[in-house]
Amino acid sequence: MTTDFPQSSSDSVRFQVDSSPIVEVSSAALSRIDALAQASKEHETGGILVGFNIGRNIKIVEASDAGPNAQHSPIRFQRDTEYCRQFLAQSFAQNGSDYVGEWHSHVAAPGRLSLGDLGTVAKIFIDPDYDFVSFVLLLAVVRKRDSQLLVYVAERDKAQCNRLQIKLLHRGRFPEKGSPAI
Ligand SMILES: [Zn+2]
Repeated sequence: MTTDFPQSSSDSVRFQVDSSPIVEVSSAALSRIDALAQASKEHETGGILVGFNIGRNIKIVEASDAGPNAQHSPIRFQRDTEYCRQFLAQSFAQNGSDYVGEWHSHVAAPGRLSLGDLGTVAKIFIDPDYDFVSFVLLLAVVRKRDSQLLVYVAERDKAQCNRLQIKLLHRGRFPEKGSPAI
């Protein structure tokens, strides 16, 4: 177990299942994702997650929006790469936070990661420029009546020849602000 992971505070929510990495998301990031997803009920949207890798655990500080040149459709989404690159550079300059994950919404697609989404994560893990130990994927499933948050963490399984493992840590309503850690 990692012992130097910061304690959960009232302005963040923690997700962990069994011995998975801990994923801690700031309330600011959660509210932003919820608001952006709710503002785009017909088309998918998303962005990058910035924060810190602490061992295999991840602390998410902030989420970007999609950017002005993003491509949105009811079943597809491609974020504005240049915009997100600038968002990351700004976050890094402000508080040293790094690229730790991605988020996007599903409005018509099923309420789980698609094969395309899994392919995207695999590509990120293969890329030697990143060399991720773990990586977070947040999915906001937007439906007419309510929306759900799904929290996934991907990591290499050392016991299984570094095979990529993606674990679902949470599926449910967006946690209320300042709710206790899960
Ligand atoms: Zn998707």
